[in-house]
Amino acid sequence: MAGVRVVLVGPPGAGKGTQAIRLAGSLGVPHISTGDLFRANLSRRTELGLAAQRFMDAGELVSDEVTVGMVADRLTDPDTENGFILDGFPRTVAQADALAELLARDDHELDAVVALEVPEDVVVARLLGRGRGDDTEEVIRRRQQIYREETYPLLRHYASRTVTVDAVGEVEEITGRVLDALRTRT
Ligand code: ADP
Repeated sequence: MAGVRVVLVGPPGAGKGTQAIRLAGSLGVPHISTGDLFRANLSRRTELGLAAQRFMDAGELVSDEVTVGMVADRLTDPDTENGFILDGFPRTVAQADALAELLARDDHELDAVVALEVPEDVVVARLLGRGRGDDTEEVIRRRQQIYREETYPLLRHYASRTVTVDAVGEVEEITGRVLDALRTRT
């Protein structure tokens, strides 16, 4: 495929992080996870990390302003020149518009949006087993609700460039499905 500017969309627990790392390795571009960037900021106790903390703990979205600023900053790193796998961003239509604007500055655009499909009962069970600090049942439910209300509509927004992949199965198998879907798309 020509470019590798790819966004992964899926509910919390869909395996975005796992797949993003594998796809990044196989396509030779960096994996950019806004959740990881927030957690790294938090562990360094930066101003941004501390500002994001209460939203993360509650399963709420951090403001678009803070999130977009953090991503814009990351996208100036030279390793993103030939592309990236974005994981957890954009999560709102406003973030998607901001991303399109950032890319347009360099005459770039997204090549594909990969929608990972997993039934909600499967993702909730996976998250309860993961045991991260913000993986309590209440916070998990809130993150799923925000996904349905704020992030799912993105798939309509991106309809023309979205490829849908069944994300139930073995990790390797799902990576293969995504790579196949990306190849047949271009
Ligand atoms: P999950 O996919 O399990 O929800 P992430 O690691 O992607 O977990 O995100 C953890 C938290 O970081 C989110 O609940 C939210 O508070 C914050 N976050 C991550 N990405 C974004 C984003 N694009 N916009 C706003 N907040 C975000």
